[in-house]
Amino acid sequence: MESAPGPAGSPSAASTSLASLAELSDRLEGTKSRLHLLRLVGDFLRELPAADRPVAARLLVGQPFPEGDPRRLDVSGATLWRAVCEVAAPAAPEALWSQVSDFGQAVDRLLAEAGRGPGAPGLGLQEVARTFEAMAAQHGRGARRERERLLARMLARASPSEGKFLAKCVLGDMRHGVNQGMLLEAIARAAGVAPEAIRRAAMVLGDVGEVAHLAFEKGANAFTAVAPRLFHPLQPMLAQMAHTLEEAWNAAPGRLALEFKLDGARVQVHLERDEVRLFSRRLHDVTESLPDIVADVRGSLKTRRALLEGEVVAVDAWGRIRPFQDLLRRYRRMHRVESAQRQVPLRLFLFDLLIEGDELFVDRPYAERWQRLESVHGGIPLVPRCVPQVLAEAEAFWQEALAAGHEGLMLKRLDGRYTPGIRGSGWLKLKRAGGLDLVIVAADYGYGRRHGWLSNYHLAARDEETGEFRPVGKTFRGLTDDEFRRMTARLLAIRRREEGGTVWVDPRVVVEVQYSDIQKSPLYPDGMALRFARIAQIRDDKAPEEADTIQHMRRLFERQAAAPLRP
Ligand code: AMP
Repeated sequence: MESAPGPAGSPSAASTSLASLAELSDRLEGTKSRLHLLRLVGDFLRELPAADRPVAARLLVGQPFPEGDPRRLDVSGATLWRAVCEVAAPAAPEALWSQVSDFGQAVDRLLAEAGRGPGAPGLGLQEVARTFEAMAAQHGRGARRERERLLARMLARASPSEGKFLAKCVLGDMRHGVNQGMLLEAIARAAGVAPEAIRRAAMVLGDVGEVAHLAFEKGANAFTAVAPRLFHPLQPMLAQMAHTLEEAWNAAPGRLALEFKLDGARVQVHLERDEVRLFSRRLHDVTESLPDIVADVRGSLKTRRALLEGEVVAVDAWGRIRPFQDLLRRYRRMHRVESAQRQVPLRLFLFDLLIEGDELFVDRPYAERWQRLESVHGGIPLVPRCVPQVLAEAEAFWQEALAAGHEGLMLKRLDGRYTPGIRGSGWLKLKRAGGLDLVIVAADYGYGRRHGWLSNYHLAARDEETGEFRPVGKTFRGLTDDEFRRMTARLLAIRRREEGGTVWVDPRVVVEVQYSDIQKSPLYPDGMALRFARIAQIRDDKAPEEADTIQHMRRLFERQAAAPLRP
């Protein structure tokens, strides 16, 4: 049986070296067995000095800061690339991309080719954490350049394997087989605490580092007291997909509340006296960009201490909900907030309550949470809702939601607890149908049976700001043989250029694409790609200008980003 090395080679070392964490990460990469992965991580964390444990736990899952911490590194793949090229000065850096599949590998190769060994003195975890803090503290003019300089300074002292680990952390994409769910399970096993308690604490505290600290330093008892805290965002409860209203209804007839699913952005509202902070679904602090909502919360609620949840939507002069794109324009805007405020007014609709006064509501039934919300929401509207007695009533409400142009319905169990970060069965979402309408921008010639056909399609979404088509995935699934043949002829007729088996075409053909999810991918220019994409239909009724936008896709990506923590 293998066991993880101690920090810096020795359990008693004062500060853990980055080298030991990078070495662990390399070993994880080469390990297939889930149990073995859990043991490697658990043993490693247990042996660390207490002060290094939170940092190591976070970095292992690519989090330079706790999830609920507003600080962000804000380093793009391009910045990382410039930093490593500055350090390694490769002759032909771009050529490398045909041999590697991610930034981690690329950095590893570049540093190895430049003959980098570990620096002296070696990088320690605390130093890495401090450098990340300094990078996040850069704002305004020259900030990007300064972040790049700080990153390059670390890379200049890193071995190839340390550089690779840093690159993965910076981009938040570890690819070593241990995600947050597994990290938490490893902590539970190694510290002898119930996995359920560990998972819940991670959701509520928004910090795997703090969870690791509590587990190893304080033990199981510490977890009974873990509860949401004001001004510390917690992971929002997620919804499972319902396929039909009837099916959802039949699973819990008469025990559901139905709410409009508004097409906006989720916010967590934290309020204590005059202090208000708003957090996004991904736990970013968005208070500064939403001053009108802050003012509403301050002036209209009938409570002085609360943690509430709701959806922010853009409205027109008559108070009607506007398309999501309008909201995005406002929501992202950090500068010139005032003029944007006039152009795109926002409204908050509340739908849940987790703290009110000195009382905690997380573990109370939704019906009770809603009741309290009704008594404190004051002038802030609640989402339109109904508690149907019969299916026909539910169906009428569904029709009402669709007719009003909403995204669908949320179906909530009246007796359901609030489960932070979990896609439980307490909430179901029922959406109007749809995949993504994308444009074919290139196609590869197929092999074997598909020889001679253009059968692997490069799919792109439209950038609504520039009108460009941005690649977001590829697929060879979904068409019949006949359709492949016809599509080949069609694409060859609009060919622009050909290169190594790939034909680039005018962006004219729109296809409806179904997919399993959108994943982060440094290989695509917008950093995300469709997984398991397949063509559901060729949409000749749609012009490329009507294709779905990269902005819409980003929103879908952000919405699904808070992954469920299931082992
Ligand atoms: P999805 O993003 O498709 O997983 O759907 C869940 C999201 O719907 C939540 O994160 C909210 O942003 C949004 N939403 C809109 N209306 C509601 C509602 N009434 N209750 C809960 N979430 C809602």
